[in-house]
Amino acid sequence: MGKDRILVIDDSAVQIEFLHSILKDDYNLTMCQTAAEGLRAAKEGDFSLILLDVVMPDMDGFTLIRELKATDLTKHVPVIMITGLADIQYEERGLLLGAVDYIAKPFSPVIIKARVNTHIQLYHYQTQFKEQALMDELSGVANRRRYEAESAARWQDAARFGLPFSVCLFDIDKFKVYNDTFGHPAGDKVIAAVAKAAASHFRRATDLFARYGGEEFAAVFVGTTAQGAFELLQEVRQAIEGLQIPHDPSVGPCVTVSIGGVTLVPKQGDDYHTYLKLADTMLYDAKRLGRNRVVWSDAGKTQWMEKS
Ligand code: GH3
Ligand code: MG
Ligand code: MG
Repeated sequence: MGKDRILVIDDSAVQIEFLHSILKDDYNLTMCQTAAEGLRAAKEGDFSLILLDVVMPDMDGFTLIRELKATDLTKHVPVIMITGLADIQYEERGLLLGAVDYIAKPFSPVIIKARVNTHIQLYHYQTQFKEQALMDELSGVANRRRYEAESAARWQDAARFGLPFSVCLFDIDKFKVYNDTFGHPAGDKVIAAVAKAAASHFRRATDLFARYGGEEFAAVFVGTTAQGAFELLQEVRQAIEGLQIPHDPSVGPCVTVSIGGVTLVPKQGDDYHTYLKLADTMLYDAKRLGRNRVVWSDAGKTQWMEKS
């Protein structure tokens, strides 16, 4: 793992040089001497901490931290305010605007180092905690909570930009039999393997693939036609079959999934759940028609069905 990146925003060259000498051995530093430059760097870089001077000629540090905390790309990055204004009111103001800490000049290198280390540690714990809260532990893919949050956002994006929106549900075929034959721990491994194989097909930044619950998964994506979505999901289904995980012989040679989905361009007044229900109906059809297949709808009459 590389060094953590720290952004230092301070108009004083002397101060910048001083901070550099204290922190350069342990961190990867980016130095900016104007607030405007600092704001741009903060939006572009992947920083674990920002050290921010309060008094600068082009924009004061309070205005800048307000900007940083109002921007999605930067609001999670901890900010330590640095200033010579050893006034309790400034300290209060910085903390109220979202600074994690406040260091008054003149400062000791030991204190700077200790505070920086502490806040970077906390930042890592927080990042890890947030990731885990949205991840399914068994399979490593997005969990139901993340699905609920992101599917709504993708639906709104599609509605706003008039893009086709797809949602589909996967369900492992005859999985109860699998557990009965091979045991629950083996079943868990199958869930993880199926998730991994499917997730690798949803690589765009706006794609979402999640464990929906039990042996069921959901995928949500935008910008693909119904025909394109149907073809993509056929590939996913084949990839899962291609894992060649032996099933109970009474069911078939290997583990398979059934997939039902729908693609549409959301219109004013449409409800996401109506289409999720339609995807569920398509999944039911896929099961009814013999499992290990994809059934897709474009929310109108057309239905695409894989035959075996
Ligand atoms: P179908 O083809 O109709 O989907 O049949 P099925 O047996 O998969 O369907 P059903 O919904 O009756 O059973 C789902 C089974 O999935 C029941 C349960 O034992 C198993 N299951 C659900 N969650 C987990 C899990 O986290 N781990 C394991 N090992 N099994 C699970
Ligand atoms: Mg099920
Ligand atoms: Mg099932």
